[in-house]
Amino acid sequence: MNDLRLGGLKTERSTIEVNGVSIGGKEIILMGGPCAVESSLQMSKSAEAVKRAGGKILRGGVFKPRTSPYSFQGLGQEGLDYLVQAAKEQDLLCVTEVIDALSLELVVDKVDVIQIGARNMQNFELLKLAGKINKPIILKRGLSATIEEWLLAAEYILASGNPRVILCERGIRTFEPSTRNTLDLSAVGVAKELSHLPVIVDPSHAAGRRDLISSLSKAAIAAGADGLLIEMHPNPAEAVSDGPQSLTPEQFVQLAEELGVVAASVGRIFAGGGQQAEDTLESLRTKIDSIDRSIIEHLAARMQIVRELGDQKRLDGVKDTNRQNEIIQRLVNLANELQLPSEMIKKIYPYIFEFGVQSQIKNKLARDKESELSFYPIGSK
Ligand code: PEP
Ligand code: MN
Repeated sequence: MNDLRLGGLKTERSTIEVNGVSIGGKEIILMGGPCAVESSLQMSKSAEAVKRAGGKILRGGVFKPRTSPYSFQGLGQEGLDYLVQAAKEQDLLCVTEVIDALSLELVVDKVDVIQIGARNMQNFELLKLAGKINKPIILKRGLSATIEEWLLAAEYILASGNPRVILCERGIRTFEPSTRNTLDLSAVGVAKELSHLPVIVDPSHAAGRRDLISSLSKAAIAAGADGLLIEMHPNPAEAVSDGPQSLTPEQFVQLAEELGVVAASVGRIFAGGGQQAEDTLESLRTKIDSIDRSIIEHLAARMQIVRELGDQKRLDGVKDTNRQNEIIQRLVNLANELQLPSEMIKKIYPYIFEFGVQSQIKNKLARDKESELSFYPIGSK
């Protein structure tokens, strides 16, 4: 392939360095996280699992190129903040997909690695823009792209000035319907024979089903992949996208524990599985910030339900002391179990109840007034 002027195999393979992580060296790099960013809690749970598994990079889509225009399109800027924050909490790097010039501009200074998805592999203008930035690019193979087309797409990025391209095989479209795509593991070997660029494998979009992820991941390492990009969700059944192919955090950690021996069998290293995050003062503070945020988010959700519930009560039934005592008793028991001072519950909860009751009363009075007005419209006798 004559046109692989920059990407063609030279004497040495490329190792891509990014903020302390090397991709394309002896070590297998594990990347994981949900298909789409949905909430800060979802992201911090995912980041915690990636860290525990010995992964280095947290993934999460905030701009989703969906097949249907009516499917969830991503949280955009808000999701980006959740991704970045969660990665920081666990001292991980992060990667997200861009779909056009605007999304690239929005994420470029915030994430460590940028992904160009299968659907945009031949978006040549986007490739050229990706070539002008100073961040590594994961370039996924297009749904029906030949290896040559994929390498030439990478060449666009290289030729525009960015030498840090990581190729990602994610399955191609074939006649076989039992998997979402067909994972082309030969492509790993072929791409590495033709090019010096690192090659990683995404078994999730290839298989489309979680039961095959573990074996395909191991096969990918055996086939020479430099890393894995795997979808994992704290609660796949509730995922807004790609739930059926997402591993649970436990499955993800379990898989990581099994990768070491496979890596060793082909002369590579994977030092992951069952790791605990090393806590620094800063990382502990970021964890606390994130927990505080989710406490407030949960309080807001509770308050919303309390308001809805208020609509179903009569005004004189808004305050229910028996129910309040029952809740406090239950939470005191839980607090004891979790080694939390029960006094804390006894002090905090009366305030929570008080604000709830107040907002129910306020809501009720406003509604009563509204219905009075509609019952006796202004000007009626
Ligand atoms: C993704 O990584 O979520 C994604 C959309 O992947 P692909 O571009 O490989 O379909
Ligand atoms: Mn996905």
